[in-house]
Amino acid sequence: MTFENSLSFAQSLDAQDGLREFRDKFIFPTSIETGEEALYFTGNSLGLQPKSARAHIETELEDWAKYGVEGHFHGRNPWFHYHKFFSERAAKIVGALPHEVVLMNNLTVNLHLLMVSFYRPTQKRFKIIIEKGAFPSDQYAVASQVRFHGFDANEAVVELEPRAGEHNLRTEDILQAIDNEADSLALVMLSGVQYYTGQAFDMETITRKGHEVGAFVGWDLAHAAGNLLLKLHDWQADFAAWCTYKYLNSGPGSVSGAFVHEKHSERSDIPRFEGWWGHSEEARFKMEKGFIPMKGAAAWQLSNAPVFNMAIHKASLEIFEAAGMEALREKSVKLTAYLEFLLKQVTNKSGEKSFELITPSDPEQRGAQLSILCLEKGRELFDFITKKGVIADWRNPNVIRVAPAPLYNSFEDVYRFVTILASFYN
Ligand SMILES: *Cc1c(COP(=O)(O)O)cnc(C)c1O
Repeated sequence: MTFENSLSFAQSLDAQDGLREFRDKFIFPTSIETGEEALYFTGNSLGLQPKSARAHIETELEDWAKYGVEGHFHGRNPWFHYHKFFSERAAKIVGALPHEVVLMNNLTVNLHLLMVSFYRPTQKRFKIIIEKGAFPSDQYAVASQVRFHGFDANEAVVELEPRAGEHNLRTEDILQAIDNEADSLALVMLSGVQYYTGQAFDMETITRKGHEVGAFVGWDLAHAAGNLLLKLHDWQADFAAWCTYKYLNSGPGSVSGAFVHEKHSERSDIPRFEGWWGHSEEARFKMEKGFIPMKGAAAWQLSNAPVFNMAIHKASLEIFEAAGMEALREKSVKLTAYLEFLLKQVTNKSGEKSFELITPSDPEQRGAQLSILCLEKGRELFDFITKKGVIADWRNPNVIRVAPAPLYNSFEDVYRFVTILASFYN
């Protein structure tokens, strides 16, 4: 479609948007700078609060008050089974079967637990492929796993780097790197969407290649869950984990999701760290010796469910269910393309480009986020837009990340944002 750079055009796109009423289900923060409603573009970092979150938490507070410990069985959402309220809906978010997903812990914890099962190095096969500049927590997790098994992280962690002068990894280079390691490769663990550049990887092709050389392949979906259309089951991913507070709007530090492909969950040769909540439900309160795993990913649970933060995730998944991932992705592609179209017209006073977009322009290779690499006065530009009521994200040394979230951002938001940004150069 051909876009136009005007407020009325942006408003006409909003008028055609079948998801426009979802905006009203969220609370927009007030800009500290202007005292007015912020232009919010950091749903990739912390999604906005669903208005329904409060009632979901209150339900659990009331049931706790009313029933005490008996809320485990008599509450409106019995806490004993709490993780089950998520299976169907979370499975749709990542393209899995319901018993392949479970909500538990936080993201980095889940990455560790899943590496316990899927990173079991031998003297010959001990390397892990990650992307260079991966989210720091992932780097620390991977390096510490490697050292835990007695290997040298400098040797065992293979970091993939874009070609000189390029910002993104080419799929062909990722496949080549996997081939290069082949027999020494134990695990490929990349992000679904790279947090800094916004690049979305070809998860299906990379997963297939990893398996071809005999490695496991796991995905960190922190920036992909609730953003891209995912098909973890069909892609045959071995495992995945994601947080729920970014595109999934479930509140700071909220519970994480984990996926274990069903081909692995019944295998007795795949070890895991175990706790009572992964134990067969029928037998759990018998408190007997001997672990009997629950079916599927639920066997990886250690502890009883953190009900209060999961209550918000429950509220959030109801919204995703009503909107539908396919409709969201369709809007997202258009919304981000509009942002890109407008940004590309911005020049400085001398008519030159003062930034470049390092996120791929192919919609298949990105989600909602665009990363703006500033060629001059980046920090001043960021401070300027912040003063004008925009909430975006600054990453040293010179990148501004913006992510229009299709659930609650409008085409008008995007238009107003770029207008503010362009006015910096006037
Ligand atoms: C946001 C994010 C994290 C955060 O980890 P937590 O354990 O939830 O604090 C980790 N990895 C990636 C890739 C992220 O984007």
